[in-house]
Amino acid sequence: MAKRGMLIVLSGPSGVGKGTVRKALFDEPDVDFEYSTSMTTREPRDGEVNGVDYYFVSKEQFEENIRNGEMLEYAKYVDNYYGTPLKYVNETLDSGKDVFLEIEVNGAMQVRANCPDAVFVFLTPPDLMELKNRLIGRGTDEMDVINKRIEKAVSEIRMMRNYDYAVLNDKVENAVERIKDIIKSERLRVSRVMPDYELMLGDK
Ligand code: 5GP
Repeated sequence: MAKRGMLIVLSGPSGVGKGTVRKALFDEPDVDFEYSTSMTTREPRDGEVNGVDYYFVSKEQFEENIRNGEMLEYAKYVDNYYGTPLKYVNETLDSGKDVFLEIEVNGAMQVRANCPDAVFVFLTPPDLMELKNRLIGRGTDEMDVINKRIEKAVSEIRMMRNYDYAVLNDKVENAVERIKDIIKSERLRVSRVMPDYELMLGDK
């Protein structure tokens, strides 16, 4: 049986650039982990594709998935549900591949409780003004939604202490390099490589 893959969780406050960093990371030629596409009840933005950016579903469908225990984690975020379908994550980890989640902080804490050996990376903004400008610059949300997101960001930054690594997103390419370095080191962690050595030593 393949050694179970590693679960990598990228989280951080709203508007910090999680989505941008994640996309840049997956554009790198040497990135070989699998992205878990999330499910959401929010409306698709221009250019977003069902099954690629998200699985866009109704509130009823999402709530049914919750009831059936089909979500690894989920959160209500600015009046919509967002969550990670459990089946894809489990099957991919079982096949020995590493899985990458990009999720908000409440969901990340649920993963922390259920998957203690996952790697938790917190993306931090250079400062709050910058964060606000990014949310406005994105131009996809109304001002009251932006203000709600900023308020939320402040309380979310306080949750950084629950993570393993803090990655400053001063520049997307720097953040990407930092995340790649973290993953490289995490793959060398004794607890992760020990099963291979046990096989080699004939201990298992
Ligand atoms: P957006 O609406 O901007 O695409 O996403 C809003 C927030 O939801 C972002 O912080 C994003 O990281 C988060 N998010 C996306 N997918 C998931 C998910 O599966 N679970 C959780 N908990 N948050 C998610």
